[in-house]
Amino acid sequence: MVERQLAARDISDPLVLSAMGRIQREKFVSADYRSQAYHDGPLPIGYRQTISQPYIVALMTQALRLKGGENVLEIGTGSGYAAAVLAEIAGKVTTIEFISELAQQAERLLSDLGYDNISVIHGDGTLGYSPNAPYDAIVVTAGGPEVPESLKQQLKTGGRLVIPVGATTSMQSLLRVTREDKNNFSHEDLCGVRFVPLVGEEGWPVE
Ligand code: SAH
Repeated sequence: MVERQLAARDISDPLVLSAMGRIQREKFVSADYRSQAYHDGPLPIGYRQTISQPYIVALMTQALRLKGGENVLEIGTGSGYAAAVLAEIAGKVTTIEFISELAQQAERLLSDLGYDNISVIHGDGTLGYSPNAPYDAIVVTAGGPEVPESLKQQLKTGGRLVIPVGATTSMQSLLRVTREDKNNFSHEDLCGVRFVPLVGEEGWPVE
């Protein structure tokens, strides 16, 4: 997976490649999908949600420009896979999940796997998580209508926010927002992506 799906494309950050080489993706999918665990695409995890394609997890993690030891926030825990990738590199990871059953499952799995630097929070991640802020990096693994202001405000100066943003729930642009100083943010459009909707107060309305 690391060679064919990541290194053969544009994933070159050695920290990302080695982190993803250490994690067993089959632990994050149900028995029904275990044989497809290293498939080059997303897989269902129940509750109409998915574990992201490995390449997309790698691309987003690389876009955060982590060097090791950072304080990172993830919105959209899902299976917990991307949180584990982040925790292999960063110092501390806070991850927020809207669906309580997924939050509970991921918390149990990540603690069984021995990750003691990940806090799983059940709640609306569009508001961020101020008790652990400010963050060096924030990654949102669901697509929203705009960049949530709360997340921008919880970035350190120099911090990066990677988020899929689109005018409809079917397609998004992957954006990197960098906090240049207190009141200035720069935006880069990295590529087109397709994510499940980011719902909540600063996301799409909850159905
Ligand atoms: N990072 C995950 C991918 C999860 S898919 C993985 O590696 O498996 C996106 C997740 O975002 C879904 O589980 C969905 O329930 C969650 N989500 C959507 N809106 C959210 C919000 N406002 N706060 C927290 N989680 C949210």
